[in-house]
Amino acid sequence: LELLGVSKQFHVRSGGRRARLSAVESVSLSVRQGTTLGIVGESGCGKSTLARVIVGLHLTDDGQMIFDGKQVLTHRRRSPAELKQMQMVFQDPSSALNPRATISESIGFPLQVQGESKAAIDERVAKVMRDVGLPAAYASHYPHQLSGGQRQRVNIARALALQPKLVVLDEAVSALDKSIQAQVLNLLTDLQEEYGLTYVFISHDLNVVRYISDDVAVMYLGQVVERGSAKELYDNPKHPYTQLLLSSVPTLNPADSTRDEPVDSADAKDTEIPSPIDPPSGCRFRTRCPFAMDICSQVAPAPVQLSADRSVACHLYSDAAAGADVQAVPA
Ligand code: SF4
Ligand code: MG
Repeated sequence: LELLGVSKQFHVRSGGRRARLSAVESVSLSVRQGTTLGIVGESGCGKSTLARVIVGLHLTDDGQMIFDGKQVLTHRRRSPAELKQMQMVFQDPSSALNPRATISESIGFPLQVQGESKAAIDERVAKVMRDVGLPAAYASHYPHQLSGGQRQRVNIARALALQPKLVVLDEAVSALDKSIQAQVLNLLTDLQEEYGLTYVFISHDLNVVRYISDDVAVMYLGQVVERGSAKELYDNPKHPYTQLLLSSVPTLNPADSTRDEPVDSADAKDTEIPSPIDPPSGCRFRTRCPFAMDICSQVAPAPVQLSADRSVACHLYSDAAAGADVQAVPA
């Protein structure tokens, strides 16, 4: 999956006037087949909007998307064949299911919409229930008879029913207890391996994202501020916002930190996230950035490519782009 300059605005009313909220602003990302791209950021940073753009639930204002070698027109409604390729799993395992439909009806619904025969639906439902570890006896159960973790397995089964190539998981384990989270994450990893699935895994939970992702993108106020392999990005965050995010994550072993220049969260100037209706000029992070310079309020920083799979959008690194030591990523 490749996104190039994707933008999505909403028209909203703010203080009695009409305003444009730029939820996703010129986002470029790529996800290699069979891998997981994690997207992190605080709530309201545009993660969920981006998720919906990818699967076609929101039409874009601008940008391009290429999937499996083909261009997907993101400003138009998708064809049923295009929709089939990408599925989404939402946060709340309860509200995502129809309380009056049995588990097999819920899982089979997308197949019914695609016009599959009853026999084909039954066979496929039984298969995906096995895949996600749900006992066959649950087929006739209703959502309220299942636990939260089991309901999320139902949602994953429903997403897999159409044999998609890509699954977007939006806070898919956030509503679950820690021990259940681990089970569902392991299930997702197993399914990925078995079916060569590509995941876009969206969460505000940095530990969960680190656990499951090959690559990570950090979003702030609708923009991607840093991208890299999960290992490099967590070991050596470059963008001041990534540093701030990681400095406030409780880790199991804080002494194990190998980061170069950790930013104490107390250094952050202002912890309020500005409104995306009227984002700060220049760098959108400048109102909270401990390193903000004059240029930061005037010029929006373009992404600087630090290595093949590493980029950061911050003026602190603009010189590095021109210099020879751009590969200076600590071992
Ligand atoms: Fe901070 Fe300036 Fe970098 Fe923005 S561009 S993150 S304000 S140093
Ligand atoms: Mg969200």
